[in-house]
Amino acid sequence: MDIASHYPVVIVGAGPVGVTAATLLAQYGVQSLILDRWAGVYPQPRAVHLDDEVYRILERLGIGAEFAAISRPGLGLRLLDPNLRVLVEFHRESEGVRHGHPQANMFDQPEFEALLRTNLKHHPEATLRGDAEVTDIADLGGGRTQIGFTDRMSNSEHRVECDYLLGCDGANSLVRNHIGATMRDLRFEQRWLVVDVDSTVDLEQWGGVHQLCDPRRAGTFMQINASRYRWEFRLLPGESADDFGTLAALHPLIAPWLRSPSDEDLRIIRVAEYTFRAQLADQWRRGNTFLLGDAAHLTPPFIGQGLCAGLRDAMNLSWKLAGVINGGLTADVLDTYQTERKPHARRMITLALVIGHAMTAGGGIGNALRRVVAPRARRVPGLAARVLDSKTPPLSGSALIHRHRGPKQLAGSLCPNAVTAAGARLDTVLGTGFAIVTSVLPTAGEKDLIEQRNAVVHYAGPGTELAEWLNRGAARAAIVRPDFTVMRADRDLSRLCEALPTLNLRRPCIDEAAPGGSSL
Ligand SMILES: Cc1cc2nc3c(=O)[nH]c(=O)nc-3n(C[C@H](O)[C@H](O)[C@H](O)COP(=O)(O)OP(=O)(O)OC[C@H]3O[C@@H](n4cnc5c(N)ncnc54)[C@H](O)[C@@H]3O)c2cc1C
Repeated sequence: MDIASHYPVVIVGAGPVGVTAATLLAQYGVQSLILDRWAGVYPQPRAVHLDDEVYRILERLGIGAEFAAISRPGLGLRLLDPNLRVLVEFHRESEGVRHGHPQANMFDQPEFEALLRTNLKHHPEATLRGDAEVTDIADLGGGRTQIGFTDRMSNSEHRVECDYLLGCDGANSLVRNHIGATMRDLRFEQRWLVVDVDSTVDLEQWGGVHQLCDPRRAGTFMQINASRYRWEFRLLPGESADDFGTLAALHPLIAPWLRSPSDEDLRIIRVAEYTFRAQLADQWRRGNTFLLGDAAHLTPPFIGQGLCAGLRDAMNLSWKLAGVINGGLTADVLDTYQTERKPHARRMITLALVIGHAMTAGGGIGNALRRVVAPRARRVPGLAARVLDSKTPPLSGSALIHRHRGPKQLAGSLCPNAVTAAGARLDTVLGTGFAIVTSVLPTAGEKDLIEQRNAVVHYAGPGTELAEWLNRGAARAAIVRPDFTVMRADRDLSRLCEALPTLNLRRPCIDEAAPGGSSL
């Protein structure tokens, strides 16, 4: 494959995060080269869950319907005692929900990655080169970077230059080393057995995630699709995946979830050992080089948020980068990437650790967590807010998120993907640029200003879901960023219009709303 000698953006790693970033950049007309050491997607199942906030990103990528076809809604999370009695249940909805998608979605990661790659082919701005092992990275000065890679088929060496480099190269990131970042250990490291099984009969279990809180051997069980099931068990000292390679060896572990099937009904897809870690890179950026996904953060998968965090990274950075490259934004907006994303990733890792400790901690702390805290989890501040529904914490304040003191505020949180009065979902109406959602009718002057800033406005009439959302946030209008996040909310629409940034990017999904106009 012939490639150019220079690209605006080079992405190391064509995992789910790298391909998502490339697709989002391409939608804004930004060219990128993605290099991956392997030709195809990583074939082993890893992630099995993503939430409704992240589903909006998949809709933006244009694969919402395709993802629906390969995923199934999950019913939520149950913490179980060693006798499989339910300690507490956190329910997830799939109908009538804030973001228009099921709050929990179960899927197979290789199938999902294949979908991402097929979709990428619709974007000529993105060039994916497989069998390309990145071996060295050098700063050339003036913001430029040179990447050296080896073609694993021909063994030939190649060089390419870029203005921006994205490190989406996973847990052992070379790009992270290049920028001198260090993974900070959040003090969690456990060896787990991951078992994927196909069954010709329905195991007839509750259709959510079962977390077995047993300090002797914690475990997780869930159904992935019509025939696929996943178990994860903590390995004891001296054990390895090799000890569990057959159904007979697995039987003592998985039997509690097998009611009727015989071994002939079950087929092991794989049995693997993973070391679950909690780590956060101290620095996510140096100059024009950025870390995204597992290169920047690692979480134990107890609440299924590792990949979700990576997709949020890609969504957060791509429009800012496109805005700086060809949309008229100043380079300092790129500082907001780490400011906003790092604290959010840390809070989600902390939540996974809380669940992890509830499942595994022994002694007095473990018993208290399981017997006392778990049944009362709904009343534990912070925990309740985050586990009881799929809503994640607001992003921290930055130059692009104007948070103020006080309890009622919308800035940093996601604008709901509500159904509009015309019956469409808000995301399809707002498109991919900045927008104002308002419960007061804009004046002609305000409309002109919004149009000049290349934004759209959506009027939320009295009694609508969005008007009530604004009201609960003590606001009458909000600036919504291209990544669905509220930049600023206010009672004064004209003040908001003045604060609206100008982002001059093409907006491919804007068919429903003319620039400046909208469903008004
Ligand atoms: C058992 C398990 C269960 C999980 N469950 C969940 C879950 O339910 N929900 C969830 O959200 N997350 C889950 N995760 C986490 C999720 O799988 C990862 O967070 C996700 O795959 C990270 O994506 P990524 O694109 O950042 O990195 P990766 O998927 O690791 O991709 C990195 C890519 O970079 C390439 N690469 C690396 N170095 C180089 C180089 N030098 N040159 C060229 N290419 C390079 C690699 O080949 C790879 O393709 C789970 C993980 C595990 C292990």
